[in-house]
Amino acid sequence: MDHFLYRDGILHAEDVAIPDIAHTVGTPFYVYSAATLTRHYRLFTEALAGVPHLVCFSVKSNSNLAVLKLLGDLGAGMDVVSGGEYRRARAAGVPGERIVFSGVGKTGEEMALALEGGIRQFNVESEAELRALSRIAEGLGLQAPVTVRVNPDVDAHTHEKISTGRKEDKFGIPISRASEVYALAASLPGIEVVGIDVHIGSQLTDLAPFEAAFAKVAELTRQLRAEGHDIRRLDLGGGLGIPYTRSNEAPPLPLDYGALVKRTLGDLECEIEIEPGRLISGNAGLLVSEVIYVKEGEEREFLIVDAAMNDLIRPAMYGAHHDIVPVTEPAAGAASSPYDVVGPICETSDTFARQWPLPSLAPGDLIAFRSAGAYGAVMASEYNSRPLVPEVLVQGDHFAVIRKRPDFDEILARDTIPEWL
Ligand SMILES: *Cc1c(COP(=O)(O)O)cnc(C)c1O
Repeated sequence: MDHFLYRDGILHAEDVAIPDIAHTVGTPFYVYSAATLTRHYRLFTEALAGVPHLVCFSVKSNSNLAVLKLLGDLGAGMDVVSGGEYRRARAAGVPGERIVFSGVGKTGEEMALALEGGIRQFNVESEAELRALSRIAEGLGLQAPVTVRVNPDVDAHTHEKISTGRKEDKFGIPISRASEVYALAASLPGIEVVGIDVHIGSQLTDLAPFEAAFAKVAELTRQLRAEGHDIRRLDLGGGLGIPYTRSNEAPPLPLDYGALVKRTLGDLECEIEIEPGRLISGNAGLLVSEVIYVKEGEEREFLIVDAAMNDLIRPAMYGAHHDIVPVTEPAAGAASSPYDVVGPICETSDTFARQWPLPSLAPGDLIAFRSAGAYGAVMASEYNSRPLVPEVLVQGDHFAVIRKRPDFDEILARDTIPEWL
């Protein structure tokens, strides 16, 4: 459920009419619903009620400071994958003790930043990283709290590019080598082992791979404890999928996911950490765009809109689908026709949907891409010198621009022409 509904024939974000935002901000823009973000975060805290837990929002899915502040104020922790995301979480007021640091390629500089600024734990992905982290922590006179990310070798049955838990993926250490790697961790002076980490992929639409992974984590917890390690936290990663089309997808609910966590890991007396991104932010955002032209092709009609692959790259990069809806609600029973919805960029991959049914539209009409709150604005670029797409947050009947569209003076000022040219 989200808070983007038609009211009096006009699409609203909570109590704000989308055209009102478009008039103020111009198009294209992202709009997020505070009530939806809040609701989705609470679904997880409610699902894990009864076991000690921390829901760490995956900052890479949506890193706007206002979004982080909203979730942080509700009590959320943050899962960051770079020094930049760490800075964002801190700038949004999230204390270090609620931030976990994931990622396969943390640099020494990033490690020092988090160690000095305060960090809940590092989710370490290799022996080389363990050694580097130990050295840096020691140099600062500190001990780094650590979980090791294990790769349970389960297939998440998700998209090739976002699957992370198979043997051939680059993430974590093989679970068969965990004993050895934890022994190394325990021997390093700058490292304090606090738990185990696992994350098997994104956009999972089935609980079975989670169940298989969690069963392996439970077994590993018992084994590592028997080997003398103080396993007190289990970080289960993110990955729960969302419906990208309203019609036929029904991914598992956070409540069922929570029940699975309790059933498979509840008796271990560990603190449970989860790192959902997409499920919190995905359906809390729309990308709103204006029709520039309707072009009659030989075999199809193209809707050329002012949003492009640089603003929302998921269709071009993953073949992802986003439902597209008109901002003015079609009259009941009104005819629809199939459009190819495309952006203005000179690449065929700048196509959002083919043969997508929409009512008859004209230049100036607004459309909205649904489920665009995760991996949307964060992956945007200025390809084709199109200004970075702005972001808006709605709460009740008011809205605010939470990232403005840069003007061309700012854009051009970022480049420098050397004086010898
Ligand atoms: C991407 C990622 C997440 C979030 O995944 P979602 O599918 O958005 O929930 C969580 N943890 C790690 C380590 C990730 O890489």
